[in-house]
Amino acid sequence: MYNLSLVLEDSARSAPDHPALVLGELSLSYAQVDAAANQVANLLVSLGVAPGDRVALTCPNLPQFPIVYFGILKAGAVVVPLNVLNKAREVTYFLDDAEAKVFFCFEGSEDLPIGRYGHDGARAAAAPPHLVLMTADPSAPAPLEGVPTLSASLAEMPDSFATVQAQETDTAVVLYTSGTTGRPKGAELSHSNQLMNALTCNRLFRSAPGTDTHLVALPLFHTFGATVDMNAGFSMGATLVLLPRFEAQQALELLVRHRVTRFAGVPTMWWGLLHALENGADARGLSEHLRLGVSGGAPLPVEILEAVRERLGVSIMEGYGLSETSPVASFSLAETPRPGSIGVPVWGVEMRLIDPVDPDWAEVTDPGAVGELTVRGHNVMSGYLNRPEETAEVMREGWFRTGDLARKDEEGFYYVVDRSKDMIVRGGYNVYPRELEEVLISHPEVSLAAVVGVSDERVGEEVRAYVILEDGAELTAEELRAWGAEQMAAYKYPREVVIVDELPMTSTGKILKRELR
Ligand code: ATP
Repeated sequence: MYNLSLVLEDSARSAPDHPALVLGELSLSYAQVDAAANQVANLLVSLGVAPGDRVALTCPNLPQFPIVYFGILKAGAVVVPLNVLNKAREVTYFLDDAEAKVFFCFEGSEDLPIGRYGHDGARAAAAPPHLVLMTADPSAPAPLEGVPTLSASLAEMPDSFATVQAQETDTAVVLYTSGTTGRPKGAELSHSNQLMNALTCNRLFRSAPGTDTHLVALPLFHTFGATVDMNAGFSMGATLVLLPRFEAQQALELLVRHRVTRFAGVPTMWWGLLHALENGADARGLSEHLRLGVSGGAPLPVEILEAVRERLGVSIMEGYGLSETSPVASFSLAETPRPGSIGVPVWGVEMRLIDPVDPDWAEVTDPGAVGELTVRGHNVMSGYLNRPEETAEVMREGWFRTGDLARKDEEGFYYVVDRSKDMIVRGGYNVYPRELEEVLISHPEVSLAAVVGVSDERVGEEVRAYVILEDGAELTAEELRAWGAEQMAAYKYPREVVIVDELPMTSTGKILKRELR
């Protein structure tokens, strides 16, 4: 019997005064965070929340996020983190689908550089019996009449609580993901899934108790930040410097000011840091303390990996995973770097390639052959909440199919070729955008590229590249198209090149291909 909140409670016992969370001038110790989470747990009990009930939470990277998250877990309830960018209609869907009993919603503030997230959501939240608002300024009057704010609700609550013990297979978190198709589904992750994944990260990253400082720019409502930064960091008694919204210049300043030792980001964040350096940002001394870089969530172009090593002096470990796999499934190792590879499965996890169109999921075994990646192990979800049919489509005998196409080399290293839904079929040939993006980025005047398929009468899908140029570059779209034709086979080089100033991104910082298409 245990509970994922152990990751916080253990550090609160062993290093109560060590700083757990830093935001601007504010610093909260492990004891303070744990006590505040106990207050949240007491509040939930007073609202009638029982073990197993679901409680939704939408909040950017502020101290309230982990405090409420672990308060929910301590009460034995299930956390349903929601993206802060959701609109009212979407929030309503998630609250209904999850049958949330309570909704903790951050109200936003013009003073914080994060906009008024959650505003819409709060007003839509007639669905659950209880709405608790979190505001940036706890002393401000409640912005919605009759709705309690977090700080006021906690004022009377005792700061000790006997954590409700869970079975290891009990659900701890429900993470909404659109997966490969259809409406968003809630992936049910157990206490054991999440705990094992956090401990796996610590082992991979050679973390030692009380020694690391993370810059947390990955949103904590997303699986990557929640596990790699929050759960793994808390269990090691690390200090988490919170950044509510990624901005490269500010991120660099914080990395230097707080002598950060670990930074995990999606590839566009690493790209942003390099870009800020080029524009004169100061990163002196960074390599003296930044011991570890982590990338995941999307393919990391080899150009970026190498530029980070050269200019920031840090080697990046690339990991692979999904919401459904806690998220970490594989990692590249510092000792055996293979640029462009997602490494090998982490301990206790297996990966296998299957024929994506075979109803029997036949295994693809030829070295170098492309297949759909499937994953089995302690990290795989129990299923999608209340969706047995959709669960059965992606799970068989413990194996989960990811929707990602990959190949494996003779030494057992995996390479993500692309998402199957992003693959372009041009005139009957399979074209993998990721490969083309790597080639385009290798052009000295190209900074970032995203390739998508657009429907075309003649070839079915045509290949179109959206490209951000290096500052001051004078390359034209036509020149880049002609260069691409020299570098890549005739069936796949981008016929259309569009030069843009920026690319649409998710709140996690992944390039939004859906929107580009
Ligand atoms: P949603 O499903 O909610 O639309 P999403 O697909 O981005 O969002 P996540 O679970 O956050 O959901 O992302 C998992 C996906 O991210 C993987 O299926 C894979 O396509 C991609 N991914 C993660 N890590 C890597 C990596 N190192 N290299 C390539 N792709 C990666």
